[in-house]
Amino acid sequence: MTSVAHDTTHEKTHVGIIGAGIVGLSCALWLLQAGYRVTVIDRGQPGEGTSFGNAGVLAGFARLPFTRFSMLSKIPRLLMDRDSPLSVAGHYVPDLMPYGWHYFRSCFNYKTMRSALTELQASAFDADQVLLNLTGGKHLVQSKGSLGLYADAGSIAQAKTGEMRERQQQGVNLEFLDALQVHDLEPGLAPFYAGGVYYPDTRFTVSPIELSRCYARYFEAQGGRIIRDKVNFIDVKDHGVAVQSSLQCEQFDQLVIAAGVASKPLLAQLGLSIPLVSERGYHLMIDAEGKQLSRPIAWLDKSVFISPMEGSIRMAGTAEFADENAMPNRGRVECMKRHAHTMLGDDLNIESTWVGSRPSTPDSLPVIGPLPGQPRITLAFGHGHLGLTLSAVTGKLVAETIQGTKPSVDLEAFSPLRFSQQRSVA
Ligand SMILES: Cc1cc2nc3c(=O)[nH]c(=O)nc-3n(C[C@H](O)[C@H](O)[C@H](O)COP(=O)(O)OP(=O)(O)OC[C@H]3O[C@@H](n4cnc5c(N)ncnc54)[C@H](O)[C@@H]3O)c2cc1C
Repeated sequence: MTSVAHDTTHEKTHVGIIGAGIVGLSCALWLLQAGYRVTVIDRGQPGEGTSFGNAGVLAGFARLPFTRFSMLSKIPRLLMDRDSPLSVAGHYVPDLMPYGWHYFRSCFNYKTMRSALTELQASAFDADQVLLNLTGGKHLVQSKGSLGLYADAGSIAQAKTGEMRERQQQGVNLEFLDALQVHDLEPGLAPFYAGGVYYPDTRFTVSPIELSRCYARYFEAQGGRIIRDKVNFIDVKDHGVAVQSSLQCEQFDQLVIAAGVASKPLLAQLGLSIPLVSERGYHLMIDAEGKQLSRPIAWLDKSVFISPMEGSIRMAGTAEFADENAMPNRGRVECMKRHAHTMLGDDLNIESTWVGSRPSTPDSLPVIGPLPGQPRITLAFGHGHLGLTLSAVTGKLVAETIQGTKPSVDLEAFSPLRFSQQRSVA
């Protein structure tokens, strides 16, 4: 069993964390284990932000940034197609301008970004295992691989020589399957596919919310504190950081900002402008009675996943650039329902729908590490489509940053400085 020893060197240092999503909770566990006194502040219950609604996939195969010229060239066509995974809300266009500019600029750095993501992914599995062993959460994660399917043979042929070959070059273990082999693995699927790819090493959680709750329970049982309150203001002083929330003011020696998409306004108070956007995804919970599904399955043409989750099937996906508080878009939900029928057949009972905001950066990489010029503040947000997958390794890197040890992954590619010319924040 992998484990980390509980250290006591830092117990007088009080670390505050804003955000009890899967990223903030992972940071909290690593810091507690390193011996710090840790308090997490969240305006809601642990794990009930974006971390509540994801597809549950620990997607170690995801090593190619979405930010690339080949994706950029597809955007106009995707925006015209009502069944495509991509949409932009009119009200959100002004917010997207800085994001769009940095997306375009980042396309030139594709290979550097890919190396950085691959390096982060290489440490993700071990970091997960540490937290799952520590918290007793192993029963919430299954290792049955995952499938990525295409509806037509042309797309498979293209993937074989393109994206999938590139993944293999990044060290991803995958096998190509024809339609018969897919059927043998997942007989409950409707026959919408021509074949696809199998990732034997993928793991998934049967309950993203239970995973967050499991982390939060362990954290509190070991002496960590969780405060339910909304942070309004951060004041960095010489001797510490004051965090003003609706009901109280807390003083910390160190602060971690892990507030998902809401990290952007908190950082704006500190003088840092980050082109972080709200990339909304939806899920449908489908009654699984009479349906058989063993592992997460992506329909790659439509960018949706179906995952088995404790008695239900969750269909999750789409990328809708819209304000996090905007009303859910009925058109997106209807589009996902059509995909669900195509993948699982006509007789479906949809139990509920959900929408949440991925905290997305223009270069598809999270922001992890110190806030330049502010040694008391560490950043951990912007994980986009991979927040569950990269949460544990992010927590480990945050703990290493605060301890002042050399991070086990080079953090340069994850620095907020990549979006600005400024070298430090006043
Ligand atoms: C449909 C969908 C499917 C996805 N599928 C996957 C998947 O299969 N695998 C994967 O790896 N990732 C997936 N993701 C992405 C993943 O869910 C996110 O990247 C991840 O949940 C982000 O976690 P977080 O902790 O940064 O943010 P959150 O979970 O949003 O947590 C941030 C927390 O900060 C709190 N907060 C914000 N502002 C304040 C404030 N001012 N004061 C106090 N508290 C505050 C919020 O209440 C929230 O609890 C998916 C996302 C979506 C939408």
